[in-house]
Amino acid sequence: RINTKKITTGSQALDGLLGGGIETRTMTELFGEFGSGKTQLCHQLSVNVQLPLEKGGLGGKAVYIDTEGTFRWERIEAMSKAIGLEPDSAMNNIYYMRAINSDHQMAIVDDLQELISKDPAIKLIIVDSVTSHFRAEFPGRENLAVRQQKLNKHLHQLVRLAEMYDLAVIITNQVMARPDMFYGDPTVAVGGHTLYHVPGIRVQLKKSRGNKRIARIVDAPHLPEGEVVFAITEEGVRD
Ligand code: ADP
Ligand code: MG
Repeated sequence: RINTKKITTGSQALDGLLGGGIETRTMTELFGEFGSGKTQLCHQLSVNVQLPLEKGGLGGKAVYIDTEGTFRWERIEAMSKAIGLEPDSAMNNIYYMRAINSDHQMAIVDDLQELISKDPAIKLIIVDSVTSHFRAEFPGRENLAVRQQKLNKHLHQLVRLAEMYDLAVIITNQVMARPDMFYGDPTVAVGGHTLYHVPGIRVQLKKSRGNKRIARIVDAPHLPEGEVVFAITEEGVRD
C-alpha cells in the first residue's frame, strides 16, 4: 500500500488495528448498530485530519455529508479544543453539507471534484450515513436492483475521488445489533462482498460497557485480525 497517508482516530488501539489510522486513497466503511459510535468517529476524523502530519493529521480539510441530521458543531468545538486546535478555524475547515434525499446526496458527490480542484486542502470526505436515504426511498427486495445500482455508482464515484486526489473517504452504514445474522440479507447488510466489489476497508463497531466501544476489521487480508476497545468521551475518541 504505497503512498497512502494516515489520519489518527484519537485512539492508539484503533489506529493500531487500522495499521496506523484511516488511510488515504481508500474508502473505509464504518458499520454497526445505532449508538455504536459511527457518527462520533466521523466528527473526530473531520477534526483530526486538520492536525499537522507530526500529530497524526494531514494538515487538511474535511467535507462532511450528513444524511441523517446528526452532525453537531458543538462536538467539533469540543473535540478541536481538546486537541489544541482553535475551534473557529477547525469549524471553518469543515465543509458541511446536508443531503436531503438520495438524488441530492449523489448530486453533492457529483460536484465534489470541482470543489476539491478549487480547494486541494480537502483530504477527507465523510458520508454519514451512506445508506439511509437509499434504504428509505428504495425499500425491500422489490427495489433491490435499482437501489444497488444507484448505491454502486455513488460508491465508485467516492472511490475514484479517493484515488484521484489522494484523500480518505469514510462512509457509515447502520446495521442491526447482530450483523452476522444479516450478512445474507442484502436489504440489511450493505458492504457484503456478494453485493458490491467496491475496494476498501470495513470496520465493524459494537457497543460495550458504558462509553467503551469495540472495533473489528472485516475482510482485510493486509490487516491483522482481532478486536480493539476504544472510548467515546466528552473530548472525543480516546483509548
Ligand atoms: P452511531 O452514529 O453509530 O449511531 P454515535 O456516533 O451517534 O452512534 O454515538 C452515540 C454515542 O456517542 C452516545 O450514545 C454517547 O455514548 C456518545 N456521545 C455522544 N456525544 C457525546 C458527548 N458529548 N460526550 C460523551 N459521549 C458522547
Ligand atoms: Mg450516526
